[in-house]
Amino acid sequence: MTPTRVLVLNSGSSSVKYQLIDMADRSRLAVGLAERIGEETSALHHEPLAGGGGKRERHGRLADHDAALEAVAEELAADGMGLDSPELAVIGHRVVHGGLKLTVPTLVDDAVLKEIERLIPVAPLHNPANVTGIRTAQRLRPDLPQVAVFDTAFHSAMPEHAARYAIDVETADAHRVRRYGFHGTSHAYVSRKAAELLGKDPSEVNLIVLHLGNGASASAVRGGRCEDTSMGLTPLEGLVMGTRSGDIDPAVVFHLGRVAGMSMDEVDELLNKRSGLLGLCGDNDMRQIRRRMAEGDAAARLAFDIYIHRLKKYIGAYYAVLGTVDAVVFTAGVGENSAPVREAAVAGLAELGLAVDGELNAAGGKEARLISPSYARVKVAVVPTDEELEIAEQSYALVASR
Ligand code: AMP
Repeated sequence: MTPTRVLVLNSGSSSVKYQLIDMADRSRLAVGLAERIGEETSALHHEPLAGGGGKRERHGRLADHDAALEAVAEELAADGMGLDSPELAVIGHRVVHGGLKLTVPTLVDDAVLKEIERLIPVAPLHNPANVTGIRTAQRLRPDLPQVAVFDTAFHSAMPEHAARYAIDVETADAHRVRRYGFHGTSHAYVSRKAAELLGKDPSEVNLIVLHLGNGASASAVRGGRCEDTSMGLTPLEGLVMGTRSGDIDPAVVFHLGRVAGMSMDEVDELLNKRSGLLGLCGDNDMRQIRRRMAEGDAAARLAFDIYIHRLKKYIGAYYAVLGTVDAVVFTAGVGENSAPVREAAVAGLAELGLAVDGELNAAGGKEARLISPSYARVKVAVVPTDEELEIAEQSYALVASR
């Protein structure tokens, strides 16, 4: 029997998300989340999807990622799908930063782990947790291949003129300062699916992909390759996000240091955690912002307008980068669910061939779909992202090709 199952692990700083996927039919066998790892209030939410066992919860401290993954392994074992199962082919790990060297899905060995660790200074929030997740999984199943799939990988095709900041080259190179881009697994998956929806090969289409979740990024994709993306050295650059500022004059940092006496860490925390929609109006959930707008709340209205203004600037910029555009594609929590955001983002862009059909836009649904009127020169699409499936696909393809 050829093993066909992939366990996908997405280890964050205090959480582990996981999915067990059977690549024979792309079905989800189990999904879950361990959260607040390291705190007294840790919880594990586990849902077996095969066999109909129903959701299970565990509460109580999970001391570290080791303890969390062990608990996950126990839950899977209780469903007869444990890590010792001969049907498990590979564990696929989401790794946020692969830098310049790790640009394709990679079988993890000591050298690869060292490289992921070496990149911690440019991904201090994410790469340490990713390393811990891999080490724990290795300890639990030493004989099983572990594959790292990098969030930066899709963007490694970016040309130098998009990847470099206009700063002193020696300083930049000495400290690996350049634009890496993130959400790459999502941009890759969504651009492939969008091409499918258009009935074309990815190599034949130019797309503007808007991944609008709590984190948000845009990318310009020409013929399946990333030509530019809005996140840079870190996931702070670009669009207005739930709690991150996105683009800002770097002099704001000096100004806050000199005038407000804030430390580097304080400014870092301000721009990453207390900015974006949250900083502007006190809420980072688009649903809540829309509710407040309906009640005439001015701060929520302004936050929405700033969010949309930035989005429009990126649509325009990437239109210019690509020259011709086949579709603008919305994905992730806000992009998939918020018809008002989609409508506002393309409003007034008829000269660029862009429009949404009110009814199609409002219709909702879980499938990839077009929301532009049939006459539109440039299509507008909603394509639900599936980063876990993409990680499973890439991990499985790598071990199957060995
Ligand atoms: P993600 O990071 O992709 O999981 O997206 C999370 C974000 O999606 C949340 O913070 C919400 O702002 C947003 N979201 C989820 N559902 C909806 C909805 N029905 N309408 C508007 N925004 C939504």
